[in-house]
Amino acid sequence: MTFDFSKYEDELLFVPLGGSNEIGMNLNLYTIGGKWLMVDCGIGFANDYLPGVEVVVPDISFIVERKDDLLGLVLTHAHEDHLGAVPYLWRELECPIYATPFTTSFLKHKISEMGPGKKPKLHELPTGGSVKIGPFGIDLIDLTHSIPEMQAVAITTSAGVVMHTGDWKFDAKPLIGPVSDYDGLKKYGNGNVLAMVCDSTNVFVEGESGSEGEVQIHLSKVISECTQRVVVTTFASNLARVATVIKAAHDAGRMVCLAGRSLHRVVAAARESGYLSNEVEFIDERDIMNIPRPDALILCTGCQGEPRAALTRMAKGEHPNIKLTPGDAVIFSSRKIPGNEMKINWTLNKLVERRVEIISEKEHFIHVSGHPARDELKRMYELVRPRIAVPTHGEARHLHEHAKLARSLGVKETVEAHNGAIIWLAEGEASVIGKVKSGYMAIDGLSLIPSDGDILRTRRKLRDDGALFVSVVLDNKGGLQHPVQLSAPGVLDVKEDAELIEECIAELTHLLEHVKPRSSDEQIKESLRLCLRKLFKKELDKKPVIEVQIARV
Ligand SMILES: [Zn+2]
Ligand SMILES: [Zn+2]
Repeated sequence: MTFDFSKYEDELLFVPLGGSNEIGMNLNLYTIGGKWLMVDCGIGFANDYLPGVEVVVPDISFIVERKDDLLGLVLTHAHEDHLGAVPYLWRELECPIYATPFTTSFLKHKISEMGPGKKPKLHELPTGGSVKIGPFGIDLIDLTHSIPEMQAVAITTSAGVVMHTGDWKFDAKPLIGPVSDYDGLKKYGNGNVLAMVCDSTNVFVEGESGSEGEVQIHLSKVISECTQRVVVTTFASNLARVATVIKAAHDAGRMVCLAGRSLHRVVAAARESGYLSNEVEFIDERDIMNIPRPDALILCTGCQGEPRAALTRMAKGEHPNIKLTPGDAVIFSSRKIPGNEMKINWTLNKLVERRVEIISEKEHFIHVSGHPARDELKRMYELVRPRIAVPTHGEARHLHEHAKLARSLGVKETVEAHNGAIIWLAEGEASVIGKVKSGYMAIDGLSLIPSDGDILRTRRKLRDDGALFVSVVLDNKGGLQHPVQLSAPGVLDVKEDAELIEECIAELTHLLEHVKPRSSDEQIKESLRLCLRKLFKKELDKKPVIEVQIARV
């Protein structure tokens, strides 16, 4: 049964469509008085379950049906898991977008790649700024993260205030951008916050996340001690880290080259917003091999082993401009994101084969997370003092642990969200009261397809079990006109399995010779499929995808 929102018109409801089953793909909805507000619209990364697909976005059909009442999209920051889906989904929503200058500038670069058609209207807000969007009063609050201008969103409604934290940490030395606005948080914390919807990424990490300022000291030292060419890989979006690497390179008398599209994009946005001086010069990647090895530093993408990233291509020896030589150092100023270990290890093995020296956070303090560890979460709850805690930005196990932590800190009510849950944010009533359609859409080349649809189901089967293609030519009485053709890509080898292929063709031919003259093509196809299914089960214990084509002459 569909949920009747009209019964809750004066109430404040929270409906996450992404980010509450996973770390990534954040999309959050708030509603009151029949109007809707969206906070963030991000992508997620696909797993092996979706062969040939790298990126997924939330299924937004629920809010598309209500798009006339969707008043706006507020972006907390410029990370892909918070705004990366805008170019794919905005044309279905066509709502105004609100963001700070750096986030806007970053989004503009992405939108420019959207191709012809309607483009979103961007409303730039200053950091810490305010705006009224229908029944939602929006106040932005500066929080530190691994990218500049991360803004918590305090949403004031007639039913109470929600503190939507976005991604954050507390860092006394963030290097780029201000420290978190404790006073801004405290202002709301005087018993005024009904609910806090908060980052759960590092809820299992004890203590604090550590400071970017500390990383700078250690990374500079590591780079200064290298004697040959240096390659540093990190998350392109971590602008503080990018700036640290550039500074350390210059201090060590090295020229810097950027390798990877997302790095160029983030550096362009940083320059536009004044976070990086225009005087910082980079050397073109086509020229970097002409620089003596002790004078060169390459800052590149690929710290997660992404197949097409610059470092992966260097490791394979397939980068068009950059070749690694024995004795070069590759510094991973990053961590292995769970799920990426195999890809990263593959890159590491290839680098070892090239006799390159690898330096990682295991040996040196050269990476910190942008998300709060437990002590920071405790401090946030002390500052904001919400009556209800709704953990988000995590898998079920993160949300559960975060809810436990919140209760231990004296928060009276907690709700463990999941994508599609309708959560009633009312004191004494906080709970999941219904659900809406949610799920994943896969970015498949240039199209957007359902992750649980026929195309990907068949592709999965093709990958796991291979395929059999049979083609048959009959006359209009059902007589066989040409020898039966059979191919079995991914199942049989033309030479090795010639005998089995012959046997299949013989069985099919025998079957066709005894087919009733009046049989329809569909009936014939089904009996051929049945025959092959039995044969392959018996001979190979395999269930390939079977395609039969019949032509009539
Ligand atoms: Zn983030
Ligand atoms: Zn995030």
